[in-house]
Amino acid sequence: MWKPLTRLLATISIMVLASMAVCQATAQTAPTELRVATRVLPPMVVGQQGALSGFSIELWNEISQRLQLKTTYQVAPDVASLLTMVRGANANLGIAAISITSAREAEFEFSHPIMNAGLQIMVSGAGKSGESSPLKDVLSLLFSWTSLAWLGIAALLILVPAHIVWWYERNHESGMIPTRDYIPGIFYALYWAAGTLATQADSAPKHWIGRIVAVLWMFTGVVFVALYTAQLAATLTVQQIASGINGPDDLAGKRVATTRGSTAATVVRQLGGQVVEVRAIDEAYAALGRKTVEAVVFDSPVLLYYAANEGKGRVTIVGSPFRKEDYGIVFPRGSELRNRVNVTLLRMREDGAYQRIYDKWFAAK
Ligand code: GLU
Repeated sequence: MWKPLTRLLATISIMVLASMAVCQATAQTAPTELRVATRVLPPMVVGQQGALSGFSIELWNEISQRLQLKTTYQVAPDVASLLTMVRGANANLGIAAISITSAREAEFEFSHPIMNAGLQIMVSGAGKSGESSPLKDVLSLLFSWTSLAWLGIAALLILVPAHIVWWYERNHESGMIPTRDYIPGIFYALYWAAGTLATQADSAPKHWIGRIVAVLWMFTGVVFVALYTAQLAATLTVQQIASGINGPDDLAGKRVATTRGSTAATVVRQLGGQVVEVRAIDEAYAALGRKTVEAVVFDSPVLLYYAANEGKGRVTIVGSPFRKEDYGIVFPRGSELRNRVNVTLLRMREDGAYQRIYDKWFAAK
């Protein structure tokens, strides 16, 4: 009599257990509360007083809202740690300014690109245009300390032949100096000495001692002009070298700041640059400000944002992005979330939500 009842109870309990197991399995593959690894990199991720915003954050908030997923953000100090969090299943996915590379694609899975970006160079100073126009170069050379020093030496040197020539010429009846008095006589002699130094003499001494001095002085003039020209050329070259990062090929041997574990660090090393690795990109900006590095190489959207805001007038972006990269959302291998995120991302492109968020952070103001 009890047998059918026991059987029924057994069947019910098996069904309950089975459904619980199914629920648990579903919960494991598709959690509704996600841990999302990110890192602060304005304007992709902006962290202000503990609250996160920025392009990537708003994009993810919209995706997760549409997928009815809750998010807890976990902020990593650099991209390498961010990837470690995703690798070690400490995060369900990562979103910031993560470049899709072959090495990362081999280890992780990426969403469709969330943005096209690339690497760019930033140097300190108000800009190349303000730094090295030929007119500015010439003027700064003319009024430089070097020129002043050479002028001083010339003025002192002139005194010697001028006095000798004045002494002998003033007594010569058809001499170069029309007066016997020191003033204005010495001015005639000084003018002649200055002219001869620059190899432009318009008169010659008549006394034989004056003529010997004139010949020696002309030789001195040739040597003086040659030395001065060499010095000017050297100064100009140094000036040009000093402001000389005009593209990626100029990075070899230069101290370049960028973030630890970034694609930029790899590329700068390949180009022969001396990489100074920092964690927060702000430290790279500070190093450039202090001139402890000669350039910052980093993601173009991040650099352009800094140059247009905080760094305005203090930094210059050199050329256009020299290495194209796309940003993606990174998932561990086999994540069942990726497909749903991709579908939502494409829908957001189609219905204009993506563009709205993009314009908010990147439209020219
Ligand atoms: N796009 C860079 C990368 O993925 C970002 C580096 C960083 O977050 O510091 O390597």
